Amino acid sequence: MRKLIIAGNWKLNKTTKEAVELVTLLKRGLSDVTDIDIVVCPVATALTDVRDVLIESNIGLGAQNVFWEDSGAYTGEISAPLLKEIGVQYVIIGHSERRQYFGETDETVNKRVKAALTHGLTSIVCVGEILKEREANKTFNVIKKQCEGAFSDLTAEEMEKIIIAYEPVWAIGTGKTATPAQAQEVHKYIRDLLTELYDENVAQTVRIQYGGSVKPENSAELMSQPDIDGALVGGASLKAEAFIDIIKNSCSVTQ
Ligand code: PEP
Repeated sequence: MRKLIIAGNWKLNKTTKEAVELVTLLKRGLSDVTDIDIVVCPVATALTDVRDVLIESNIGLGAQNVFWEDSGAYTGEISAPLLKEIGVQYVIIGHSERRQYFGETDETVNKRVKAALTHGLTSIVCVGEILKEREANKTFNVIKKQCEGAFSDLTAEEMEKIIIAYEPVWAIGTGKTATPAQAQEVHKYIRDLLTELYDENVAQTVRIQYGGSVKPENSAELMSQPDIDGALVGGASLKAEAFIDIIKNSCSVTQ
């Protein structure tokens, strides 16, 4: 059985002081959770301070992006070995906000995923359709293209290490959650696609998170879907109580 993994994407929010306060509350409130992997992804400037709070905790540390080259004349970028050096374990790649505002493409997602693999970082690769694509019945085509691009040239062994986050763009930060049935349908499609691109073993191993307005009220029902293996949480991960409740409510699903 795949272990649920719930990650908080803090985006461009929280000063380092606020990040430390939040993660201190999370560490205390979630210390008894053993059956769900938990990750927080603060802004880059807060990573080391958050890391220091997380020592000897059950919460993993993630970054929100990674550059594909290790070093060189790439002003403003942060590379995988540098993230690894400060204790980062996970990295979000290809979030829709990066695709929308920073020119991220399936090709650059693929380069970042390869860099993360080379340096032992676990990628959380985001895919998802915009509303116009869903309304035009293009969701599966979009997801297929994004997955084929993101995972191009990856071996089965490499693919098993990847976490996919299905995030319908129309549900991110809008309060509009995909219904559990809508989300399950796409998660099942992604799993079938992994069988087609790789094999049944890879398809059954890869964890697929759902993201898009996940909150304490809907997390248990979403997590109870057979192909949903966790959540990538934006807005609700900025409040300790809400993020803790999302995780605690999801624990009931694993019991
Ligand atoms: C996200 O940004 O990955 C996300 C899912 O945001 P929200 O939970 O706020 O919709």
